[in-house]
Amino acid sequence: MEPNPDFKRIMPEALLPVTDIDLRALSEIYDEKDIYLSVYMKSSSTSELDSSRSFIASRFKAMDKSLPADDLRQPFRSTMSLVEEAMASLPWKGERSRVIFACGPLSFLHVYRLGLEVEPLVVLDTSPFLLPLARLRDDYEDYGLLLLNSQEARLFTIRSRLLEEKSQSSIDLMNKHKKGGWSQMRYSRLRKGAIKSFLAEVVEDLIRLEGLQNMRGLVIAGPGEAKIELMEMLSPQIKERVMGLLDVSMGVKPADLVEMGDRLALDKERSLSRERAAELRSAVLRGQLYATGADKVRDALQQGRVKSLLLLDGFLIPGWICESCQYFQEGSQPESCPRCNGRTSRVNILEELYELAQRTGAEVEFVEEDEFLRSLGGVGAILRY
Ligand SMILES: [Zn+2]
Repeated sequence: MEPNPDFKRIMPEALLPVTDIDLRALSEIYDEKDIYLSVYMKSSSTSELDSSRSFIASRFKAMDKSLPADDLRQPFRSTMSLVEEAMASLPWKGERSRVIFACGPLSFLHVYRLGLEVEPLVVLDTSPFLLPLARLRDDYEDYGLLLLNSQEARLFTIRSRLLEEKSQSSIDLMNKHKKGGWSQMRYSRLRKGAIKSFLAEVVEDLIRLEGLQNMRGLVIAGPGEAKIELMEMLSPQIKERVMGLLDVSMGVKPADLVEMGDRLALDKERSLSRERAAELRSAVLRGQLYATGADKVRDALQQGRVKSLLLLDGFLIPGWICESCQYFQEGSQPESCPRCNGRTSRVNILEELYELAQRTGAEVEFVEEDEFLRSLGGVGAILRY
């Protein structure tokens, strides 16, 4: 399918969280010919940008030579110049990589600048190559982070390493409750009460944090006991979203905060994917509601029966796709499609399964390393029915 007119040019003006990229709409796009160029490049500094550009230029040269002169070379050159334009601008603050999807003949250009790292890659295919972006999406789900002590709280969301402050609150314990004349005991009781009502306000901020239920979870950070006291005041729904506590000072550097928070979030993601892998293993052992092998998983996806698709991270399943009817299969590439006689091209089946999952609304989980999933050939599915 061709991209919609309003999806033809996407060039955000700021670093973009990977969760803001419409992977589903991207997965709908394809053509019968290899007209979509996907570029993943590092771009954290001018010198890194320079070396990325020279790597990509050499890939372009090789690709240009390998294309049949007549029908693909001209379109490829117009696509190439779109990409060259997108690579030219200097890195933004905090930028680490760029992901570019382009097609000259359709004037299609998406340029995403990210605060995340990617491995350099250039692919010319019948559709935008989404697998590396999909893996990032799996690793960098948004999460909330609360930094607090007993008189100050700052609530953030962390989206692909980008810190956004959502609310801030504080009380001035010294001014509100002057010590003058009060007994030490009375002072301390009043102080405790003030802290308690301050923490209750912070709990309210958390309840109001938009989308918390859809985020990966929440990290609570800060010095001393306030975070533990706050934990005790949380409702069970919010409490179960807490991924971990961090003991840090209120003056912690934002970059360090993000680093530590990301570590907790990634641990959570790893344990989720281990859980999914265990769920698949037990479905296989019970002998029900699972599919294994690329072709059976493909069929189940097409029938809309897949609840979770599990892909082994970094795995390659060689196969082919029909450029005309989009049928794909594991194994060696036939001369032409047995179904429609169309032209075929070689693909990594994982990419095709991922796109199909996106189009059919199945959850996708990348599994780091799992012997069982590997023994199944790197792909498996838990079925709804
Ligand atoms: Zn076909």
